[in-house]
Amino acid sequence: MLDTARIRADFPILHQVVNGRPLVYLDNAATSQKPRAVIETLVDYYSRYNANVHRGVHTLGDRATEAYEGARAKVARFINAPGPETIIFVRNTTEGLNLVAYTWGRAHLRPGDEIVTTIMEHHSNLVPWQILAREKEAVLRFVGLTPTGELDMEDFARQLTPRTRIVAVTMASNVLGTITPVAEIVRQAHAVGAITVIDAAQAAPHLPIDVQALDCDFLAFSGHKMLGPTGIGVLYGRREHLERMPPFLGGGSMIRDVQLTTATWNDPPWKFEAGTPNIADAIGLGAAVDYLSALGMENVRAHEVALTAYALAALSQVEDLVIYGPPDPQRRTGVISFNLADIHAHDVGTILDQEGIAIRAGHHCCKPLMRHLGVAATARASFYIYNTREEVDRLVAALIRAKELFGSVVGR
Ligand code: PMP
Repeated sequence: MLDTARIRADFPILHQVVNGRPLVYLDNAATSQKPRAVIETLVDYYSRYNANVHRGVHTLGDRATEAYEGARAKVARFINAPGPETIIFVRNTTEGLNLVAYTWGRAHLRPGDEIVTTIMEHHSNLVPWQILAREKEAVLRFVGLTPTGELDMEDFARQLTPRTRIVAVTMASNVLGTITPVAEIVRQAHAVGAITVIDAAQAAPHLPIDVQALDCDFLAFSGHKMLGPTGIGVLYGRREHLERMPPFLGGGSMIRDVQLTTATWNDPPWKFEAGTPNIADAIGLGAAVDYLSALGMENVRAHEVALTAYALAALSQVEDLVIYGPPDPQRRTGVISFNLADIHAHDVGTILDQEGIAIRAGHHCCKPLMRHLGVAATARASFYIYNTREEVDRLVAALIRAKELFGSVVGR
């Protein structure tokens, strides 16, 4: 298990007072905080070896290139990718998913082809497929949920047809915490000849991931939710796809040769990294991966399961609190969405903020899921490696006070 006291000492931002109380940061599904090791890696890069990559004939350029490509190798090991050439640096999960839609999708989809996704996707794993489907006259099909908020695998089997070309599914829901059975989804998708695109934005920070064991075709995640900087994300792609896919953006670095009217492409992954990449933040992500790997992703997950179990039990003591998602902490991540009586989620968030507790409130970029749940918004507390039981206790106490406060405001 994790030594949270020691971990907390590595995160300067956690040690501050917000609105008169020690900060309790429970908005990790939106973005995580950064350890000193990551912050110092960025400072070190800009202070000692900032230079453009891949084209330098000077020492700083070589150092920057080595660190940038070294970060790619670290990310590859982190998700057990077969090699660094299968790791494309992008801005974030959103860009990674769009890259697949704009390249593989545009090259392969024909009118009447089908894209299967789910009703719990983040907009970034939904809107790119809507755009693609409209352009290609393809059909979108949606897998529903069980009453406890798990993916309905019987419905999944029903949605698959010989016309299914793409199955795009989240590995962990940013609202319900639901973990989906990705290996099984991939197996069934491949059986009908479809490729699989996995949104791992909420999975890569929290669960051990092995893309070879999952056998997925593409998998995307963001650095900023896993201790890394903003502006850097990862798209893993199976090598044979990356070799055959057309490029995403045209420009410098992605070419092999250019004539006035034509060009040929560089090898993957550089074929998909046009222009000067986000060198500093890629190297920073490498430091984040080092930090998580030193903790061990199995331990990260064990901490999260234990804390989520504790939180679910503690929150169940709060009167009129509705919690969404699977009740079993083994089947979900540390994302807990809830509503408190008839208090608007934004009001809950504001009251908690007054006590120094940061949560999120809103539709969480999952408007179709909100409609399915029959709510306009939820409040959401989400945990990470530095969160403690004492912080969960502060959340619960603040919710009880919020209920009392609003109860008296509305005269009940
Ligand atoms: N998918 C899921 C499940 C997410 O939680 C998020 C971030 N909220 C995204 C995709 C998009 O991530 P980003 O904004 O970093 O592109």
